[in-house]
Amino acid sequence: YVFGEEPMKDWDLKRREWLKLHPSFAASEEKVLLVTGSQPNVCKNPVGDHLQLRLFKNKVDYCRIHGHEIFYNNVLLNQKGTGFWAKYPLLRASMLAHPEAEWIWWVDSDAILTDMEFKLPLERYKDHNLVVHGWWNMLYEEKSWTSLNAGVLLIRNCQWSMDLMERWTSMGPQNPDHEKWGKAQKSLIKDKAYPGSDDQSALIYLLIKEKDRWADRIYLESEYNLHGYWLGIVDGLDKISKGYMEIDREVDLLRRRHAEKMSLFYGAMREKHMKDRGFWKEKVRRPFVTHFTGCEPCSGEHNSMYTWEACWNGMQKALNFADNQVLSRFGFVHPDLLNSSLVSPLPFDFPA
Ligand code: UDP
Ligand code: MN
Repeated sequence: YVFGEEPMKDWDLKRREWLKLHPSFAASEEKVLLVTGSQPNVCKNPVGDHLQLRLFKNKVDYCRIHGHEIFYNNVLLNQKGTGFWAKYPLLRASMLAHPEAEWIWWVDSDAILTDMEFKLPLERYKDHNLVVHGWWNMLYEEKSWTSLNAGVLLIRNCQWSMDLMERWTSMGPQNPDHEKWGKAQKSLIKDKAYPGSDDQSALIYLLIKEKDRWADRIYLESEYNLHGYWLGIVDGLDKISKGYMEIDREVDLLRRRHAEKMSLFYGAMREKHMKDRGFWKEKVRRPFVTHFTGCEPCSGEHNSMYTWEACWNGMQKALNFADNQVLSRFGFVHPDLLNSSLVSPLPFDFPA
């Protein structure tokens, strides 16, 4: 057998019944459970487990700030579903374990949330059940492997998602036919590098070959980095960090000059000031997610297109960049994004 123990049926009805019987778990359209995880065993890379801890801390910080629940899993729920296929049995189990959660937000362990203030624009997805980063034109015109990314996804807790995952994982290693699927994906997606069947190719395959069945409910996001490829991001982080610090100081000056009550609207003031300054257009906005795809921090078997140093330095930068947004509220900052152990106290009146 392939996905769960048997296909889930009537989940929408069952979920509604459960919610009726458990009124204390007030469900809401906004309720998000972040799910992430890593392999069951010690990382082969000697710094792998240290990185996993920092990557996890980053997600915990974000969830604490935004009031999301988080679940970390490091067992294989299906022995054949390894690597990137491990998430689907887990997503299904998470939906069953948390009927009160409207959305399950899968975030790969190697993806870092690099804007601690950004809120998921859930309202935008009200008519959709799966959200991933991607571009429709690139998907249908170029059929490219990078036209979407399956490492960060928002999936609605509903029967449609159960059906999609059932179909999706039928191309995975749980299926004795999966070699055939690897070939079918490769013949459709020319730039697919990995020879076997992978979940990202499987989703692209379904969107192309079974468009009528799935595409309506899938939202490809490209207005912000729901997933952002690390190579294009990490070099710019120092500049972005300075940009935000300048903004904070300017807004703080404005706040002091104006009535004390303005401080209540600090967030809104900052947004407006940034807009007035053309901040968004300068491409200095914080990327929401920086995903170290290909770096394999745990095994160390990174993609040969780049060095381990590039991955390591990039991760330090992104982790410290994100951590600065957390630490500043505690009165501290990493002055050098590459130096993870060094922190300095912020000036007493620094606007955090
Ligand atoms: N993963 C997991 N259990 C495992 C192996 C992997 O939960 O046994 C998760 C982990 O979060 C990892 C993700 O699967 O980030 C996908 O793999 P990876 O990020 O290495 O793929 P890439 O983004 O490099 O394509
Ligand atoms: Mn990844």
